[in-house]
Amino acid sequence: MLGTLPGYVPGRSVPGAIKLASNETPYPPLPHVVDRIAAAAGAANRYPDNGSSELTAALAARFGVPADRVAVGCGSVALCTQLVQAVADADDEVVYAWRSFEAYPIIAAVSGVSSVRVRLLEHVHDVDEIAARITGKTRLVFVCNPNNPTGTAVGRAAVLRLLRAVPPDVVVALDEAYREFVTDPDVPDGLTLLDAHPNLVVLRTFSKAYGLAGLRVGYAIASDPAVATALRQTQVPFAVSTVAQQAALACLEPAAEAELMARVETIVAERTRMYDELRAMGYDVPPTQANFVWIPLGDATLDWAAGCEERKVIVRPFAGDGVRVTVGAADENDRLLAAARELAPTVINSR
Ligand SMILES: *Cc1c(COP(=O)(O)O)cnc(C)c1O
Repeated sequence: MLGTLPGYVPGRSVPGAIKLASNETPYPPLPHVVDRIAAAAGAANRYPDNGSSELTAALAARFGVPADRVAVGCGSVALCTQLVQAVADADDEVVYAWRSFEAYPIIAAVSGVSSVRVRLLEHVHDVDEIAARITGKTRLVFVCNPNNPTGTAVGRAAVLRLLRAVPPDVVVALDEAYREFVTDPDVPDGLTLLDAHPNLVVLRTFSKAYGLAGLRVGYAIASDPAVATALRQTQVPFAVSTVAQQAALACLEPAAEAELMARVETIVAERTRMYDELRAMGYDVPPTQANFVWIPLGDATLDWAAGCEERKVIVRPFAGDGVRVTVGAADENDRLLAAARELAPTVINSR
């Protein structure tokens, strides 16, 4: 098995270059969050609260759900892994769109579960085909909404059609890592769908909009408390550090959250600017609801990404397919746009 596992490709870091490769926020944690991190660091000789009980209670209160339906994890990527381990055995199948979050195939392979990948249609989830590919072996469906790396989102009617089509014994994981950046009112908030869909679990994270990627903390809110229990049971002991728990709690305080959501608005405005300018240059960028844009470049992908790197901008290429560019601070985005303008003739004229 060792030689066959697909590798996760983290965003590259190059000295002196700006990094728009990993969908991080350009902003450091708020000063009051840094203070809480520093205070929690003083307790590092102690193991953390294994059940993240204070954070679980705060999330339950924040979203108006019972605490027994909430599970905290070491990033939502860990919760994805725990979910696969909890619901699927060898020979079972996990269905997801492709291209989508590159962790899904790794998680499936590491867990010894088969991946069923369903091609995107015009960069968007093909929900009818996803439903059609469910078999007696399917245990879990991942729906990444908005989708990483394309930024595209599935609207309410399509999400509901999928939820109706999935058998009740198959779990649907709605991966909403980028939910806070969604502005299209037609894209449903997964939490509003929980009551009507007992097999649904929504995954969220503090890594993106809340700016805590380096601390590893995410959460799941399930319709069925048994799913949240299973997530707690499959957790690596003490996976979420006290520092991470305290930082997340600090982010959830109303004043802090308001400031963080104001930052999200700035990113969304920059996203619109990047989308508009890239389209005006001739790039075929699909509409995005996340903190990144997708530039489908096909065979030109690696050259284009190398051209950006020469100009000291690191983007995330997916060979043969396209480049994902994270929306950064305004000056960073200016540099990306300048690079894209210089590189446009090579790819646009060769189509
Ligand atoms: C970033 C991301 C996550 C969350 O990552 P963590 O840092 O592990 O919380 C989950 N799903 C998708 C699609 C992502 O892009």
